[in-house]
Amino acid sequence: MTENSGTTAMEDLTVLSFRKPEEMKRLFKHFRNVVNHPLTRKNKVLHSYLNNLAATHKKIYLQNRDNVEVEYIFTTEKKSNLQRQRFNSLPVSEVPELLKAELLFTSENAKQVHICTDCSIEIELNDEEPLMESLSKHFNSAAHLPKLKRESIDVAEPIILPNLSRRLSAMGETLPKIKELSITKPVEKLERNFSSRLSSALMKHLPDASEASVDAGLKFYQEIFDKLSADVSAIDFSAQTSSVAPIIMSIKDNVYQNFAADANKNIDNDENEQTAEKPKSQVKKYRYYGPIEALIVKLLVNHKLLSLIDDRTGKLAFFCIACEYYTLRFHYDSVLNHVFSESHVHNLSCILQSDKSVPFSMREPSTEKIKEMNEKFLLSHDISFNGNGLYCRLCNTSIDSLEASILHILDEKHLARLSDELYIRMKESDPERSIPEEWGPKDLNWSKYLASVGKPPNSRDHVIIENFIKPSGKIGNFCTCCDMTLKGPRQVLFNHIRQKKHLRNAAPRKLSMLYKNHCRPSEYFASFGNYYICTICPDYVAVPSISAMVEHFESASHFETISKLIRSALYNDIDKDLLSSNKVIDLKCQVCDLTFQDYNEAVKHILGSIEHQTAVAEAKINANKGDIISVYMKGNHILHSEGSTFTCVGCKGVFNSIRSLLTHLVYAEHFQEKPAIESVFRFYLELKHNLNMLMRNKYVYYQFGCLKCGVCDADVEEGETAKRHVVSARHRENMGASYICLDASAVE
Ligand SMILES: [Zn+2]
Ligand SMILES: [Zn+2]
Ligand SMILES: [Zn+2]
Ligand SMILES: [Zn+2]
Ligand SMILES: [Zn+2]
Ligand SMILES: [Zn+2]
Ligand SMILES: [Zn+2]
Ligand SMILES: [Zn+2]
Repeated sequence: MTENSGTTAMEDLTVLSFRKPEEMKRLFKHFRNVVNHPLTRKNKVLHSYLNNLAATHKKIYLQNRDNVEVEYIFTTEKKSNLQRQRFNSLPVSEVPELLKAELLFTSENAKQVHICTDCSIEIELNDEEPLMESLSKHFNSAAHLPKLKRESIDVAEPIILPNLSRRLSAMGETLPKIKELSITKPVEKLERNFSSRLSSALMKHLPDASEASVDAGLKFYQEIFDKLSADVSAIDFSAQTSSVAPIIMSIKDNVYQNFAADANKNIDNDENEQTAEKPKSQVKKYRYYGPIEALIVKLLVNHKLLSLIDDRTGKLAFFCIACEYYTLRFHYDSVLNHVFSESHVHNLSCILQSDKSVPFSMREPSTEKIKEMNEKFLLSHDISFNGNGLYCRLCNTSIDSLEASILHILDEKHLARLSDELYIRMKESDPERSIPEEWGPKDLNWSKYLASVGKPPNSRDHVIIENFIKPSGKIGNFCTCCDMTLKGPRQVLFNHIRQKKHLRNAAPRKLSMLYKNHCRPSEYFASFGNYYICTICPDYVAVPSISAMVEHFESASHFETISKLIRSALYNDIDKDLLSSNKVIDLKCQVCDLTFQDYNEAVKHILGSIEHQTAVAEAKINANKGDIISVYMKGNHILHSEGSTFTCVGCKGVFNSIRSLLTHLVYAEHFQEKPAIESVFRFYLELKHNLNMLMRNKYVYYQFGCLKCGVCDADVEEGETAKRHVVSARHRENMGASYICLDASAVE
């Protein structure tokens, strides 16, 4: 086997692409019109150049090639990796020579430019400067800045996710402690927490709330649960592990953050007892920092920033959707600097001005009004603008700049004076009033105060819940999957749950937990990723994470379903609607083709049969085809095209970036259900991952339940999902069969 020496490496291919014949024909027609246009004919040089180019096109197009059937068009732009995957570039060795001859003809006058569609300015390219640098120079120039600065992100190379990445470990669902599971024991007692929840639900829903009735109900369920647990423990989940694997996406790679500045900060500084001693010169008076923090938090909320818990550190963090900016709280310095920055004010104003359904506290979201909001905030810190600049009344000093004023308001001396001032003002207005609880602990400095508040309790920590970690002591955590203690800072835990060994151990536990609670994992129809559904509840319960599923099956509504099923089994009080939503109609199972003697038997089937629940799950999934947005928003709202244009069917709003889309979904007032604030960052990361995939495969979600693949120019087939279609033979063939074919011929 010898390799064809004329073959160019795939990375070098920039000149040729192939598309479909009809696209070719359209292009040819268009090109002929351009050549024959009177304006073109007027310019002799241009006309002959284009004529020659057309002839070259024709020559290449019509040339016979052995073993290859492809169509060609010219494209002069440099192909990104993404585009190269979309239209595989093809090596045809003679073409560069032909082109070179053509281009030399005009090389004296010709220059390659990119045109910024925002300002119609030509950006010249040259060999000395990398493309991204020339572009970013323009995006930061005075000519461009007054326009939408956020457009600059759209030219960035797509973010390549680490190969291992699957699903993200959840960002902040709130739920009570997970129940312990032991999958080796074939028969297990209902956990005490579970029993007490079921008891109180039975008391509510059984015809009589007597102890005997409740006990009979519990016993009935215990028998079903024993059988179910035994059956679940016999399942080999090894083929299904990907359905519960967390997407692990790097936060750092997916958001904009001033890493150089933030990296210099000691992440643990709010636990460092040595930092920032109380200023000795100050007479200590009252020192309550709660109201000061409340002022800051209110400002951040008005700026549409989300506060969340950082997975890696377990500390408070902030996320600005308008800028895709993420930062830890630290002492509030980075985040305050962010909301005072020109680019943030600019981005926020752009997004809010183009989206009237998002409320804003200052009514008109102009940059002036946003800056006015910032000035009011400074005024609440007793910093005012006078003729010469900024002035702090409390400290009796003038301040040079806005940046310096943020430094100043976070200075311990200033904070001490302000806290005293706020205390005195409160006492003056109402001498009888006692200190409100939200004022927090007394007598600390800012650093110590921040260290003492804002720590999420372990019981609500979704990372811990979702990964079967038991908090054991201050610096130790126990991984029940790997049977080992993880000692050290949280980063150790975070690294552990991303290890292959842990993921391998955790997957069967997650799956058996889902199965024992009548739930199932599923793949999105029109998105990439997993979600989870409940098979027994009458409403369609679909949630994006394991921890949200845990929250559901510990919820009152889920226990209500179980209780009502038990009531139907033990009393002559049949809930027909609930049974039919579980596919049992008139003592017949519609999905398993079984007939029952009585409702006792029917309910045992509904609650105890794995095959039945899987079949019901499939029916529910098919009847509720959706995508990641519909699961997070609990309803169909957004149609989209090629991961770049999103349309809200409710308000007809059109969104062209993840920033404006997510702002709309989180803040617009016309949605009945909104994503929980704690899960928005996870939503963002999963959505970001999806945009790349939707774009790459030219997916068009043109109607709810109907997904069109632009590469195949057809809807995905029955039984296919966005993900399954991508790996189908048809799609792969349309994506790059010709390339493979050519490759094969080259190796002969
Ligand atoms: Zn521009
Ligand atoms: Zn921002
Ligand atoms: Zn001051
Ligand atoms: Zn582990
Ligand atoms: Zn349920
Ligand atoms: Zn059945
Ligand atoms: Zn809308
Ligand atoms: Zn396709």
